[in-house]
Amino acid sequence: MIPVTKTYFPSLDKYQNVLKRIWDSGWLTNRGEIAKKLELDIQQYLKSPSLVLMNNGTIPLQIALKIFGKQGEIITTPFSYVATTSAIVWEGCTPVFVDIDATSLTIDPGLIEAAITPNTTCILATHVFGNICHVEQIKEIAARHNLHVIYDAAHCFGVEYQGKSIFEWGDISTCSFHATKIFHTGEGGALFSKDDHIRLRAFRMHNFGHVTPESFDGAGINGKISELHAAMGEVMLGEMETIIEARQKIVEQYKSQLSFSGFQAISIRQEIKWNAAYFPIWFEDESVFQNVLNQLNQNDIYPRRYFNPSLNLLPYVEGQYCPVSERISKSIICLPLYVGLTEKEVELICSIINQAI
Ligand SMILES: *Cc1c(COP(=O)(O)O)cnc(C)c1O
Repeated sequence: MIPVTKTYFPSLDKYQNVLKRIWDSGWLTNRGEIAKKLELDIQQYLKSPSLVLMNNGTIPLQIALKIFGKQGEIITTPFSYVATTSAIVWEGCTPVFVDIDATSLTIDPGLIEAAITPNTTCILATHVFGNICHVEQIKEIAARHNLHVIYDAAHCFGVEYQGKSIFEWGDISTCSFHATKIFHTGEGGALFSKDDHIRLRAFRMHNFGHVTPESFDGAGINGKISELHAAMGEVMLGEMETIIEARQKIVEQYKSQLSFSGFQAISIRQEIKWNAAYFPIWFEDESVFQNVLNQLNQNDIYPRRYFNPSLNLLPYVEGQYCPVSERISKSIICLPLYVGLTEKEVELICSIINQAI
C-alpha cells in the first residue's frame, strides 16, 4: 500500500538519548530545558523571528484570533485545512471567504477589498502547500484598512521568501508540527511574531494567562508543549536537510515523469525557497480525475483529496460563493510524498496517471 504520506521517524537511539536527559531532570512539561532549547534551535535553523512553541498548530491560530479577532469578521481562504476556519468560528468570529487564485491556490488579493466591511478585524490566509500568499499586496491592503494579518503557515517549515523566513510576514504566523507535517514533534506547533509585545501576550495566553505564579493577564488556555514532544523535535531538526533533500528528489521525479496533460500541478511563485512538503495536481475534467483516482486505488495507491471540501461549504458557516476553490477542491489530489517512497514507486504512480489520462 502506498499512502499519501508516512510519518518520518528519526533515529530511536538519538531520541532515547534526549529522553534520558528528561528522566535525569525529572521535568516533563511547563517549559523544560528541551522545549526552551528547541525554541531557540528552530529560530536559529530557520533564521526566523522569535517563536512560542505550543502543543499543536491550531492553538496558535486560536490565540492569534483571540488577540486580533475581537469577534469580528475575518477575511479568509476557502482552500486550507479545516482548522483555519474552525479556529475562526471557535473564537466567536465570523469567517468571510474570499476565493483563491487559480494558479497559486492562495487567497486572491484582488478580491479582498470588496469583502471588507466596518466589522472586519483581520485577514487570516494560508500559505497553502508552502506556496506563499501575495504577501506585499495583503500587507498594503491591511495597512490601508487598519486590519491585522495572520498567516496560517502550517505547511511552511523551511520556506523562505526573498532569502528570509516566511514567518517574518504578518502580525503573527503560525506553524504546525503535527506528525504528518514535514518537521514534526508528534503533536506540536508554534506562533511566530517579530513584535515582542504580541509574542508576550501570546506566550502568557498559552500558559493560562500566568504573569507570575499568582497573577494573571486575562484568561488563558493550556497550549504548552511537553518535553517528550520537544525531544522529538530536537532529533528531527538534526535530520531536516536529509528530509527536504529526499522530498525534493521525489518532486523532481514527478515533474520529469508525469505527462502534464489534462491537469495542473502546483507552480511555486517567484523568489521562494520551497520545502517540497506536498505535490498536488488538479484536473480540468472531473471524470478524468475520477478515473485517475480509481486506477491509483486499484493499484493500492491512496493519494488524498487535499483540500476537500472547500471551506466555504462547511455545514457550520454561511460561506460566500467561491467558484475557483469549489471547482479545484473537487478534483485535486496530493500525490504520495514521503521519505522512503522509492524511485520505482514514483515511476509506477506516474505511469498509472499518464495512462489513465
Ligand atoms: C495541519 C494544519 C493545521 C493544524 O495543525 P495541527 O498541528 O494539526 O493542529 C492548520 N492549518 C493547516 C493549513 C494545516 O495543514
